[in-house]
Amino acid sequence: MTEVLLRFAPSPTGHLHVGNARVALINWLFARQSGGRYLLRMDDTDTERSRADFAEAIEKDLLWLGLDWDFQVRQSDRMERYEAAAERLRQAGRLYPCYETDEELSLKRKLQMKQGRPPIYDRAALALGEDDRARLEQEGRVPHWRFLLEDRPIAWNDLVRGEVRFSGNHLSDPVLIRADGRPLYTLSSVIDDMELDVSHVIRGEDHVANTAVQIQLLEALGGTAPEFAHLPLLTDPQGKGLSKRLGALSLRQLRDRDIEPMTINSYLARLGTPDPVEVCRDLDELLGGFDIARFGRATPKFDPDELVHLNAGVIHRMEFSDVAARLEALGLAEADEAFWLAVRPNLERLSDAVEWYRICNGRVEPDIDEPDYCRQAAELLPEEPWDGQTWGNWTARVAGATGRKGKALFRPLRRALTGSSSGPELGALLPLIGRRRAEARLMGKTA
Ligand code: GLU
Repeated sequence: MTEVLLRFAPSPTGHLHVGNARVALINWLFARQSGGRYLLRMDDTDTERSRADFAEAIEKDLLWLGLDWDFQVRQSDRMERYEAAAERLRQAGRLYPCYETDEELSLKRKLQMKQGRPPIYDRAALALGEDDRARLEQEGRVPHWRFLLEDRPIAWNDLVRGEVRFSGNHLSDPVLIRADGRPLYTLSSVIDDMELDVSHVIRGEDHVANTAVQIQLLEALGGTAPEFAHLPLLTDPQGKGLSKRLGALSLRQLRDRDIEPMTINSYLARLGTPDPVEVCRDLDELLGGFDIARFGRATPKFDPDELVHLNAGVIHRMEFSDVAARLEALGLAEADEAFWLAVRPNLERLSDAVEWYRICNGRVEPDIDEPDYCRQAAELLPEEPWDGQTWGNWTARVAGATGRKGKALFRPLRRALTGSSSGPELGALLPLIGRRRAEARLMGKTA
């Protein structure tokens, strides 16, 4: 049996966004669930647009999501492999030189469309004889190279789309080598998938036609096709493509907005399946419910608001040990487990903890409209040490002395103690606020 190897193949020409993250995650889940390996491949043959800082940012974003890889390759390190493959194709008569300029090609396409024909390359260059080519080259034209597709059906059983069929003569012979000698994605991707023994290719459905071409290319080079799965592309809640919003949906922006990696992972792992999104604590938990067969052909709608909502659920499942270092980095030097457990149910984002930390450890302007009642309650405050029972004991005494109950009893105390009419359980918060601050605030002083 062939070993399971999945790959994520970003082009380092920008930052990762949720659409890329989804493909990266699903490949990772598939690899890990099958006990296989995961390859990070940088598709950086486009030297004009690829940048080392983007490649670095991509690695950082993947690790932030928890998607580690077993090994990495850069296509820019493998240029000789692509050249060698191109040479083999030339020898086999499957790669032919073409001399049309971009303008000429675009004109041809326009004409074909006008005549109601599909804009498929007409193979005019195939009819050129040696003399024609010599003449064109003397004129200064440098050829680009196209792969000669065979006019036969191409079919595969897609893990998401089911049986997919293409007819070779409905596709354009793809350019594999540019006039400047650089290989194009179609060639480099196939060589890598073949030589590195990739067993499954999971990618967006914008690659479906590429797959048809790549299968013929693989066969021409003596390789066997991996399994393919093409996922429908995400749209916004109105069904429009995400491309306009991709900047705002980059992983770094989401990270800056304090969205947790497991929020993104939990959401993206279920989007496009009929299964409800479950908030998972870690990727191991997410692995349990993963099944590529659950992904369907319907367009998944990505709702950024859903992320905020889910984020609260993720935070509520985090232990103090998960967040201790981050709380410290937020400047909450004395945040301990008791603080975390007290405020956690009220957080949508981790940074919301800053405000509750101030309420426990910093200055609060009390919100008081019944000063006499608050003063009376202050006089009934028990001596320290305080614990989880203090709030219950104290408010029972206040109720006994004033005859108040329910909202009338609790709300003025909460507003005086925290400056706010809602927030975490006071049973947990009061010991963190401490007697000195509590008394001063009940007396109307900022403390
Ligand atoms: N670099 C290609 C892309 O980002 C990879 C596609 C593939 O998975 O083959 O679209």
